[in-house]
Amino acid sequence: MNWLSNFVLPKIRLVTKKAVPDDLWTKCPGCEQMLFYRELEANLHVCRNCGYHLRISAEQRLKIMFGDGDFTRIELPKTIADPLKFRDRRRYADRLREGQAALGAGSEFQFMGGSMGIAAGEAVVAAAKLAVLQEAALILVPASGGARMQEGVLSLIQMPRTILAADMVKEKGLPYIVLLTDPTTGGVSASFAMVGDITLAEPGAVVGFAGARVIEETIHERLPDGFQRAEYLFDHGMVDLVVPRAELHATLGRILGLLRDPHPSGIVGSLIESAP
Ligand SMILES: [Zn+2]
Repeated sequence: MNWLSNFVLPKIRLVTKKAVPDDLWTKCPGCEQMLFYRELEANLHVCRNCGYHLRISAEQRLKIMFGDGDFTRIELPKTIADPLKFRDRRRYADRLREGQAALGAGSEFQFMGGSMGIAAGEAVVAAAKLAVLQEAALILVPASGGARMQEGVLSLIQMPRTILAADMVKEKGLPYIVLLTDPTTGGVSASFAMVGDITLAEPGAVVGFAGARVIEETIHERLPDGFQRAEYLFDHGMVDLVVPRAELHATLGRILGLLRDPHPSGIVGSLIESAP
């Protein structure tokens, strides 16, 4: 009971937060139209109105890439969780514990900006080793603001480590593919994210090292429109293909087919067949 419920007539129902769940409607960051969440989900979290690709969780990403539940999780090596005993407003160890409980694992932008620490570096190395062992392609999907400052220099060391991991795959002649998603910046863009044999990007994804504002203030110049966006990087040769989310599964399949089979007779055959 509070002063409002005491004075409001009993017939009037107060609309509480519970009656209208937060996740029923989402505002599109691109065109600001209100989107019905279930419809948005069915459309792979892409706005039907303007095509804006909303950020998605690692879990949602895996489902889109591999089909619902059709993938295996691998055990990752245990790492030191909080080597510096870091604390700002809160203890880093507490943040880690809560984040892991709420979101699981993966390059998860929702958790501390998807920053790369020791565990992320270990995950990339483990994935590369597994790819080599299974003679499989390695596909990495970064969604990260950069290195994790709470782990100091140990997070920066992950930059050369992940580059070496990618090299390990390449040296075996196996494809290393990166899908740049929104955002891929800082230490991640300066390491494993930009050395793919094939670099794909999601439409509109921000990809770059330093933020546009920092660059503008440093060089005292206005940056061109669309700077650091996937399409801009594609126009300037930094990205091989900008792939809409709906086409991702098929595009990856086609690329892997071409890279893994030096004589793709099946693909050539189907092209000939479809010719008039
Ligand atoms: Zn939109």
